[in-house]
Amino acid sequence: MKILGKNYEVLILNDSPMMSNIGEIDNKACKIYINGGLSTDEQKETLLHETIHVVDYQLKLGLTEDQVHRLSVGLFTAIQDNWGGIPDIIGGDAKQ
Ligand SMILES: [Zn+2]
Repeated sequence: MKILGKNYEVLILNDSPMMSNIGEIDNKACKIYINGGLSTDEQKETLLHETIHVVDYQLKLGLTEDQVHRLSVGLFTAIQDNWGGIPDIIGGDAKQ
């Protein structure tokens, strides 16, 4: 997926030792990791959360983890309720 002009690869990881969190980003490698043990909706919300982290990083916003969390919860409900939800980037071949 493209974020601010950069291509980030989205990878769903199952049973990976590096997946102690629900999601992680590697900005240098332009990769977003999502824990495959989550439900589809949780994976989508996690993808949004990690996307906000990328925007924060790229634009040097200095958001706290709590602010990223609140933004992702608020934006996720707005997207779900108004724009038909986050499209199925996740699931099947999760790469782009
Ligand atoms: Zn976070």
